[in-house]
Amino acid sequence: MSESVNVVDQVAADTQVSVHAVQEPEPNSGVELKRDLLQVVADHEQAAMLKNMNELLRPVSVSGMMEHALVHRERVGVQDFVLLEDFRSEAAFIDNLRKRFNENIIYTYIGNVLISVNPYKNLPIYTEEKTKLYYKKAFFEAPPHVFAIADNAYRSLVYEHREQCILISGESGSGKTEASKKVLEYIAARTNHLRNVETVKDKLLQTNPLLEAFGNAKTHRNDNSSRFGKYMDVQFNYEGAPEGGHILNYLLEKSRVVSQMSGERNFHIFYQLLAGADQDLLRQLKLQGRPEAYKYTTDAGAQGNQRNQDAEQFRTVQAAMKVIEINQAEQNEIFEIVASVLHLGNAKFVQNDKGYAEILSHDANSNNVAELLKVDSTRLREVLTSRTISARGDVVCTPLDLEQAQYARDALAKAIYDKHFSWLVSRLNASLAPKDKDSQSSVIGILDIYGFEIFPKNSFEQFCINFCNEKLQQLFIQLTLKQEQEEYLREGIEWEPVEYFNNIVICDLIEARHTGIIAILDDECLRPGDATDLSLLEKLTQHLEPHPHYKSHRRSDIKTQKIMGRDEFCLVHYAGEVTYNVSTFLEKNNDLLFRDIQSLMATSGNTIVASCFKDINLASKKRPETAITQFKNSLNELIKILSSKEPSYIRCIKPNDFKAPMQFDDKLVSHQVKYLGLMENLRVRRAGFAYRRTYEAFLERYKCLSRDTWPNFRGAPRDGVQKLVEVLNFEKEDYRMGNTKIFIRFPKTLFETEDAYQIK
Ligand code: ADP
Ligand code: MG
Repeated sequence: MSESVNVVDQVAADTQVSVHAVQEPEPNSGVELKRDLLQVVADHEQAAMLKNMNELLRPVSVSGMMEHALVHRERVGVQDFVLLEDFRSEAAFIDNLRKRFNENIIYTYIGNVLISVNPYKNLPIYTEEKTKLYYKKAFFEAPPHVFAIADNAYRSLVYEHREQCILISGESGSGKTEASKKVLEYIAARTNHLRNVETVKDKLLQTNPLLEAFGNAKTHRNDNSSRFGKYMDVQFNYEGAPEGGHILNYLLEKSRVVSQMSGERNFHIFYQLLAGADQDLLRQLKLQGRPEAYKYTTDAGAQGNQRNQDAEQFRTVQAAMKVIEINQAEQNEIFEIVASVLHLGNAKFVQNDKGYAEILSHDANSNNVAELLKVDSTRLREVLTSRTISARGDVVCTPLDLEQAQYARDALAKAIYDKHFSWLVSRLNASLAPKDKDSQSSVIGILDIYGFEIFPKNSFEQFCINFCNEKLQQLFIQLTLKQEQEEYLREGIEWEPVEYFNNIVICDLIEARHTGIIAILDDECLRPGDATDLSLLEKLTQHLEPHPHYKSHRRSDIKTQKIMGRDEFCLVHYAGEVTYNVSTFLEKNNDLLFRDIQSLMATSGNTIVASCFKDINLASKKRPETAITQFKNSLNELIKILSSKEPSYIRCIKPNDFKAPMQFDDKLVSHQVKYLGLMENLRVRRAGFAYRRTYEAFLERYKCLSRDTWPNFRGAPRDGVQKLVEVLNFEKEDYRMGNTKIFIRFPKTLFETEDAYQIK
């Protein structure tokens, strides 16, 4: 009997619509109602209504309906994992996810954390009607949904004045970006009735297609993979209307500009421009319209109607630019940058008789770059094939060999693209800034950032990304535990500490001052002389070998049969072991762009390029910060911002590797359940008081279980609930009476209460 608890109970009192629809039934209208009800139940999304129906039908028999509900419940699983009886079993966890997934139910809660499984098909769950279902609904008053998370955050912000953040995590292709867009769309719809916000909302929504064009690419894992991390604040005025926004971007995967894995693509915008620009624009940019003509986009893999899609997307990008008020001159400059990167990739080096690299003066590609970026063409050829080094007052110009020149060219392409992307973000921010400078806005932040990555070969990028995930996991631990603790405090209930794995040891291993991996890496980068990737590895091993979360190839794990190469080290992350290959760590961390190239770019007649390269202080003797240190600092800033807010979590899961609907790969899901730490999350939630309900809601449901409370309890709801727990013989240890809520330790207690309710 306990099974039925989910269908009926999870949904609290607020499905009032149905109550009004079938007001005060006569006993003999039961048959009709029953028929209606069965129909309703058949639609799992409406199962919520059962509770009210059930209440209304009390005078007639409800056992048939309950049986139906049971069957239904068996089919769709529990909507909150907290209600899983076998909550320690990962198999039961996955079973529940699969059941729901097969019924097209992609959302499930762990308490207040939303788990979302990518359906890879469009479901009718984002309609206007569904949107309205979540307006002003408390968490469990409607089926689990990303809209519930958004509404909850919005209400906490507007009515309780607590700033919010929504943290979305999961691996590539699991649905993070889609979820973040749904949150934004929901907020836009939710505030529809408020005045004067249309343009702001349009702008906020239009930042997505724009940033996706420049920051997303087709990968094996996701056709529209975000190759940067994004945190966006939506700012609200005192009325609760959106009045602006602000975006922070993290670590664009700029290596993609110059090379991609086979079958993957460069950033969308290159193909969109080539497919969508009209003849005039193409001529102005000196482009021919085929991606195959350019080295950086040769692996275009233009299958099917990809080109049409790209062209269409280009129009979307142009429309978005218009909404965001990026004017024609700025648009031209942006496209000139994109085009110049393509031309740069085709710049031809020849080897001269001394064995050095040279670009012939009639090389059209480099001349196109010079013309588009409005820099001196002779000077451009020079800086791409030589570098000046000042040593003890002397300035020496050394020529580059072919390989060095190619490196310089690619470094320039990456730098231009990367800096221009950051420029674009700051340009969006200027446009999103609230018109009223003095207004005191409060914010909901939305974080859509790369999930944990374990590839067959992991490099510097994965190291950065996984470090980021360790930091976010640390924040998750601090915030969710803090949140639990605070609720107990608010409710006047004693807090009992829960055992959990704290990953702070891993964060320290990576970022501790002087002794962490980052410090050692930076030291090696700054060390003059013969530092190499292998000398870095040697140092790491020397300093960190004894650490339980560091493994060197000398100490390869025999148990897991992991045999590491001599150029690898392994970190035992909270989410599992990852072996990193150190090759190119130094180069990527140094992120060197020769000074001559930088100075030349600062003279560019393209105002965006000039501004991007001007901020670099060329005169400064100090080395610029390394890539990892910049990343670490911006990450710590982010953590500071997030810590000051109340978090909601959306954990996204990818059901299969084929971007296919209706396929649920248990093994793949199990892997993600592990590294998202979901079992631990559930365990922590269950270790405290798994179930909590306001006195009003609890009394309303179970008042029929005692003569003292049925049909109406005259007195404070808390006293009514007190009566009920006495009648029901709740063990003292199994529940607590808070200030506004009853807390129940085990769902079992609740199941039994529910049984009593059913028998009654
Ligand atoms: P991530 O940002 O986690 O890498 P995305 O949000 O880009 O993943 O999702 C990848 C693809 O999966 C989307 O382009 C879309 O086709 C599909 N998808 C994701 N979430 C949903 C959803 N809720 N409904 C339908 N399709 C989805
Ligand atoms: Mg994404």
